[in-house]
Amino acid sequence: MNRTLLEEQLSSLPLLQYEFISTDELVFSENVRYICRTECPMYGRTWACPPAVGTVEQCREKCMEFTSGLLFSTVTEVSDIANIEETLSTRAPHEAITRRVRDLIAEQCGTVFALSTEACAICEKCAYAEGKPCRHPERMFPCVESHGIIVTDLAEKHGMDFFNGGNIVTWFSLILFSDDAG
Ligand code: SF4
Repeated sequence: MNRTLLEEQLSSLPLLQYEFISTDELVFSENVRYICRTECPMYGRTWACPPAVGTVEQCREKCMEFTSGLLFSTVTEVSDIANIEETLSTRAPHEAITRRVRDLIAEQCGTVFALSTEACAICEKCAYAEGKPCRHPERMFPCVESHGIIVTDLAEKHGMDFFNGGNIVTWFSLILFSDDAG
């Protein structure tokens, strides 16, 4: 990959921070999956969440098909971060940016794998509940945590800010790819 070209392209997007990572440093935790199963109301409700994404081991194998990743964040200020509706309304712009970054990397690297935020909210009612295939597999991104990856740990390891102030919503995405820059 020509990372210089990609970084030039990324400079025109409203990203807060980004870092290149190696997939070797990813940690896949069964504990995260336990939290999905026991605490998340979206468990078992979309193709973007467990168990539809596969076991943690299957998720690890899928991620390890790639050598590298780009972890990036966006931020949006809301009037009250405790207002879940307002906070979640900032997701769609982040997902649109994720698609743009995914496409830029795919232009250079071909096959990529994008992980993003929360459960998928593209359809009003996910096809998973009806036992049907995902209607928009090209637009749907499983969330990072659904694969057992603790995104806060990864961000901190790379000096990225996870908390950016009282009413600032911070979203992360991770695009995996393979290149000879590793
Ligand atoms: S795109 Fe629709 S069918 Fe696919 S995971 Fe998202 S909500 Fe479900």
